[in-house]
Amino acid sequence: NHLKKYFPLKSSFLHKKDQYVKAVDDVTFHINKGETFGLVGESGCGKSTLGRTINRLYDATEGEIIFDGTDIAKLKAKELQPYRKRMQIIFQDPYSSLNPYMNVGEIIDEPLEIHTNLSKKERSEKIGELLEKVGLKKQDMEKFPYEFSGGQRQRIGIARALSINPEFILCDEAISALDVSIQAQVINMLEDLQEEMGLTYLFVAHDLSMVRHISDRIGVMYLGRIVEISDSNDLYKNPLHPYTKALLSAIPIPDPIKAQSASIESIKGELPSPLDIGQGCRFRSRCPFATAKCAEVDPEMKEVASGHFVACHLYE
Ligand code: SF4
Ligand code: MG
Repeated sequence: NHLKKYFPLKSSFLHKKDQYVKAVDDVTFHINKGETFGLVGESGCGKSTLGRTINRLYDATEGEIIFDGTDIAKLKAKELQPYRKRMQIIFQDPYSSLNPYMNVGEIIDEPLEIHTNLSKKERSEKIGELLEKVGLKKQDMEKFPYEFSGGQRQRIGIARALSINPEFILCDEAISALDVSIQAQVINMLEDLQEEMGLTYLFVAHDLSMVRHISDRIGVMYLGRIVEISDSNDLYKNPLHPYTKALLSAIPIPDPIKAQSASIESIKGELPSPLDIGQGCRFRSRCPFATAKCAEVDPEMKEVASGHFVACHLYE
């Protein structure tokens, strides 16, 4: 609720006053238990920061994070501990998120040791089960990360995240670094695990085509703000915000030659600095429909059809 995450920049010769990068700038949305909420936007839009603030890797500057009825935004380390166990993260880069000096068993054992009272033997059994659950072998616990492919490493990251039976998982660009064929496998696996374990996902990605099949609902983020929220199918059939429309037109088309060149560059205009968003709509510098009002009034999020929210003056 009204979540903000500002990163301070120290004052310099150029700027006498302290300035802030407003990475998350007043975001309100909810995620239903058991669903997958896709969060998309260009790199730098604040989606990773939003996910990490929700998971309390960062302290929120302002606002509430209601998890199962409790505002966890301001909880101190000790009170937060039981919630940490219920929320896990799968990171983007399976190459750098696994410690190269630990074997797979030790990597998955870390959260088990911190968060459970299981004996060493029980933990080792659990690690074997987890590896099988994500499509690897028990014996893989003796191996080191470099002995695996990118897709296999991401499976190790998933096994680690699942080890303490979390309820909510932030998948932060969890499949973006993988080959397209491997992406599909990992998505299918995440869906199976969701069904089996009753998981809730916040699935962060820069590409709408990546979240399309896994997400029940999708939020589109632009410069620190969610500008459209909708049921996933509805968003693709009937995108409302000019930014969402632009993102959708940039989805690579399934033609091997054209697909290489299609990109987000089809959106014209400059991405304004998150330091200086100013008044008015934050998409105005790139919006083909911008009017005088757009330069003055920041559009509020409105529900324009059942469950379909958009922040744009065109729909008022
Ligand atoms: Fe474009 Fe105005 Fe809508 Fe912003 S409010 S997206 S500038 S039409
Ligand atoms: Mg990111």
